Amino acid sequence: MQVLKFGGTSVASSEAMLQVVDIVRKTLEEDRTIVVCSAIGGCTDTLIEAGHRASARDAGYKELIQGLKERHYVLIRELLPPGYQERTSAVVDQLFGELEGLAYGVYLLGELSPASLSAIESFGELFSTAILTDKFLSLGVSCHWLDARELVQVRAGSVDEGETRQRIARAVDAFPHVELFIVPGFIASDESGRGTTLGRGGSDYTASLFAVAVRARRVEIWTDVPGIMTANPKVVPTARTIPHISYRAAQELSHFGAKVIYPPTIRPVVGEGIPIYVKDTFHPEAPGTVVEKNPPRVRDGVLGLSHSDHIALISLEGSGMVGVPGFSSRLFDALSRRGINIILITQASSVHSMCIAIAEGDADAAREAADSCFAYEISLGRLNPLRVETGFSIVCLVGDDILGHSGATGRMLAALGAHSIPVRATAQGSSERNISVIVPSVRAEEAIRAVHREFFDRWNGKVIHLFIAGYGRVGRALVEMLSDNAASIARRSGKELRVCGLANSRSYVIDTEGIPLAEAAQRLSDGEKGKDYIDALIGFSPENALFVDCTADEGIGFRYPALLRAGYSIVACNKIPFSGTYAQFKSLQEEAHKAGVSLRYETTAGAALPVLVTLDRVVQSGDTLVRMDAVLSGTLNYLLDNYQGSGFEALVEDARAKGYTEPDPSVDLSGRDVLRKILILSRQAGLPLEASQVTLEPIPADIDLRYAAAKARGHRLRYVASVDADGRATVGLREVGPDSPLYALRGTDNAILITTGDYPSPMLIQGAGAGTRQTAGGLLNDIMLSI
Ligand code: ADP
Ligand code: ASP
Ligand code: MG
Repeated sequence: MQVLKFGGTSVASSEAMLQVVDIVRKTLEEDRTIVVCSAIGGCTDTLIEAGHRASARDAGYKELIQGLKERHYVLIRELLPPGYQERTSAVVDQLFGELEGLAYGVYLLGELSPASLSAIESFGELFSTAILTDKFLSLGVSCHWLDARELVQVRAGSVDEGETRQRIARAVDAFPHVELFIVPGFIASDESGRGTTLGRGGSDYTASLFAVAVRARRVEIWTDVPGIMTANPKVVPTARTIPHISYRAAQELSHFGAKVIYPPTIRPVVGEGIPIYVKDTFHPEAPGTVVEKNPPRVRDGVLGLSHSDHIALISLEGSGMVGVPGFSSRLFDALSRRGINIILITQASSVHSMCIAIAEGDADAAREAADSCFAYEISLGRLNPLRVETGFSIVCLVGDDILGHSGATGRMLAALGAHSIPVRATAQGSSERNISVIVPSVRAEEAIRAVHREFFDRWNGKVIHLFIAGYGRVGRALVEMLSDNAASIARRSGKELRVCGLANSRSYVIDTEGIPLAEAAQRLSDGEKGKDYIDALIGFSPENALFVDCTADEGIGFRYPALLRAGYSIVACNKIPFSGTYAQFKSLQEEAHKAGVSLRYETTAGAALPVLVTLDRVVQSGDTLVRMDAVLSGTLNYLLDNYQGSGFEALVEDARAKGYTEPDPSVDLSGRDVLRKILILSRQAGLPLEASQVTLEPIPADIDLRYAAAKARGHRLRYVASVDADGRATVGLREVGPDSPLYALRGTDNAILITTGDYPSPMLIQGAGAGTRQTAGGLLNDIMLSI
């Protein structure tokens, strides 16, 4: 079984709900599924506000409830077929009736007890799941709604996990033939049978309780961001998805404010080792984050940043503290007796003061507790009354064993210092997973961005170490281009592109200080003999490193995974690493994703033409590829464009002499080069195509006959690679008529026609498909996109 939880934004509109339906139906093909669902986005907030307004005797609460009613009716109208609409409306109507009755009671009494507030809050999940359940039933899915209030048992303020587990297991076992269970998240009941909730964001916790009870294979938390990220993307636009994270580190991030996952969610699944996948409902194909027991290690141990606001600092000061033991334990004791949670403590040993961070909401209670505990010392003037300051935020850098990596604290403080952000207190975590600082809330976002820049925006304002493999025509043109544009690149991007290594098939040179580009050729020929530079690069593995593959080396792709794992981003115009088996292609992408580095190869097909980015966009936007027809060989197009019906071999020889063909023209004529390119394009479009599935027709021996036949019909010959959505692919000579966009193609140009669901009349990408400068320019563009 598997448990999928959808948050408020995932069910906030009918488009979003349809997306949810799609995701769930795909999952049902694999296994029985439990879907835990939140209230529609904003609903819980509105319910809480309505409760408060009603208790303040503000009749405006009615409008808030009316607004919610209308939002739900829109969903019912847009999602359900007519027969179901009445039935679902009747259920939702009845729920709204109960809610209105409850709110009216609060209004009359002018009082909102915690129990009434819980009851009011609970309706959001009841509305959303009523609609979702009927949607699945209307689609013929065998689906059953489970009332979480009867299953999730709260005792003395926290969930009784043992009892809850048994009840859920029993409830699910009672319906062995049901494929899909729908469960309202967030809601539960207490020991006296009254409805209660699990706290804001609590649906995540519901999901993990269900997962443990049914021993699910996995839990998926579907939300509005592509996973757990290096920081809240709403605060740090450059935040990146963390591909893998340990349970402990995820707990730490969420505890300190990353609300993408509700803190209590993780603990129950740890014992069972159930992985949690955090995924983006609106980009379901994106890999997201896996929270698991033993994730692959990251290089410097640093994973992400989180922050929470509304922190108060309390300080105990006075000459009476110096050298006298026991003050701290008395204070901790006084605070704990009031149920006050201590977030962070700093105590300078030489100074007579101690400073503690607590939640702002606890500040008054802390003051009372401390002042009564130390009343005697205060009356003698040995201690000052507790000093309470509010308006602080805590910013935490989280990772596995970050303290084991020297310098993280120093870098964090230096980054804050560089922005003159005052740090009121620091603590190197109670665990080795967290370094925390307390800063004024008004500077908190600035602080987070500064620390993020230091640890995660690896390339900003920094030296980029480039290693260029292959110093033939393209490699040389790239070096020349870098030399010509270094100053303007630095000005525009704030980054210095420094060539620190060069290699060709005979020798290599590595110099971290940078190779003066005017001396590049000389330094290379004076360099180390041999080809074993990859091991040297892996051992060396500097920060901000980028490997540029301008070779046509067959074996180099096998070393890519090691380079990626060592922290190198890769930019390549070498087709071979991407046109082996599909599994190899896919595993390169996964290695790059895991290592958090980039892998780009736009110039492997159509030189610098923006083909791969376009295909990426098709996939990312949820559009579907219908077919692709492409002229991908500048060489063959040149030959066919100049061929007049006889003497093809002489034409090839002439082209070879002019350097228009591969050194061995049979690579062009056999279609192998085009085959590689169509494999790469198809795979980029999401088709798992293998070379053996492509029907390949080389330039035929009877090309003169084919030419004559085409000419008689007013057609031209083109060498075309085609693939359709089912992965049927061909490469070979085609006749095209004047109505085809490929008819007018001249010289060495390439043309790629992409037909998709959204572009039924195909989009055409056309232009120079070969050429040294174009390829080098494309490489430089990929480099700029990677950094
Ligand atoms: P849902 O309604 O799906 O439960 P939430 O709003 O509770 O979603 O959580 C998702 C939000 O968490 C994101 O929109 C994002 O603003 C916020 N967030 C905070 N920190 C992080 C982080 N480190 N990574 C991802 N999202 C984060
Ligand atoms: N609807 C609840 C909230 O907004 C629970 C949840 O979404 O997880 O807090
Ligand atoms: Mg949430």
